[in-house]
Amino acid sequence: MSSGPRPPSPGWVPEIAAAVRGECTPDAPLAPRTSIRVGGPADLLVRPLDPADLPPLLAACAVREVPVFYLGGGANLLVADAGIRGVVVRLPIDLGEESIDGERLVLSGGAPVSRLVQRAHVEGLVGCEFAAGIPGTLGGAVAMNAGTRIGEMKDLVERVEVATADGLRWIPASELGFAYRTCRLPPGAAVTRVALRLRRGDVAASRATMDADREYRRRTQPLTWPTWGSTFRNPPGDHAGRLVEAAGLKGHREGHAQWSDLHANFVVNLGGATARDCLALIRLARQRVREKFGVELELEVRLAGAFAPDEHA
Ligand SMILES: Cc1cc2nc3c(=O)[nH]c(=O)nc-3n(C[C@H](O)[C@H](O)[C@H](O)COP(=O)(O)OP(=O)(O)OC[C@H]3O[C@@H](n4cnc5c(N)ncnc54)[C@H](O)[C@@H]3O)c2cc1C
Repeated sequence: MSSGPRPPSPGWVPEIAAAVRGECTPDAPLAPRTSIRVGGPADLLVRPLDPADLPPLLAACAVREVPVFYLGGGANLLVADAGIRGVVVRLPIDLGEESIDGERLVLSGGAPVSRLVQRAHVEGLVGCEFAAGIPGTLGGAVAMNAGTRIGEMKDLVERVEVATADGLRWIPASELGFAYRTCRLPPGAAVTRVALRLRRGDVAASRATMDADREYRRRTQPLTWPTWGSTFRNPPGDHAGRLVEAAGLKGHREGHAQWSDLHANFVVNLGGATARDCLALIRLARQRVREKFGVELELEVRLAGAFAPDEHA
């Protein structure tokens, strides 16, 4: 997904930086902030101090027509080699007040998913076993409706707090249009806090399920390499990894990127891979799978930034 054209007014970076309470870094490298370690810089990376800092920032960006992109843990993201034009907002892990009330948890959108698991077990709560091996933040997990075959975010989320240029508000889960690896947030909205409902249960059994899942992942996923996880969504009744492997691409390299030889739906960065290398792998897999099996693979990984016209997936 493109973040739009370069903003027209060259003076916008200091203007926006001056209007924001929080940390602002011009020309901030994004590759180290993604799990695949690929991509160019953000014109301006902003870390707001408080959810209330976001609406004025978003309003200032709207007035100057500066595009805004939200970065979570970068765990399912391919950033263009040219980087992302405009403002990239990265929420701090403790943005907003967190609370626990019985079986209900309110956690920061910038918090790692692992915090949900830890807090749940400390409180004697279960039901988030699926989340054990999912990297990234809770805001990103909501945006992606992250999950596995044993559960997904939509099973737990009761409501989310979002920030837009108009202010902060809570939205019930029923209005979020959760579906397979996607959710419908209001345009331009950041997830600042997430309210989840778990249940009392057997924490030891929950821990055992999570341990088994982590062990399964260690055996079947290339966790020692930089990767963004699943590249394609599983088509109905099939697995994208099976199709990419059956198309003969398991272990195939383009430049410094490779279809993992352990899991053919994962791209790994062998060291120095570019977004162009990654896109070449994606295009090739789509073409081969289309030709061989008549299946149109759809992207699960999100594309962000200023891709050149010949750089497409
Ligand atoms: C080794 C590995 C294993 C994985 N296994 C799984 C798995 O089993 N199941 C699964 O579902 N995923 C899996 N993933 C993918 C990834 O962990 C999830 O998609 C995760 O939810 C992404 O969260 P993030 O914070 O890193 O989001 P990012 O990758 O930073 O962003 C993803 C999208 O969410 C948006 N976004 C992020 N934060 C916010 C926010 N606060 N407000 C609004 N929008 C936001 C971004 O703009 C972008 O469009 C895996 C990834 C890796 C690397």
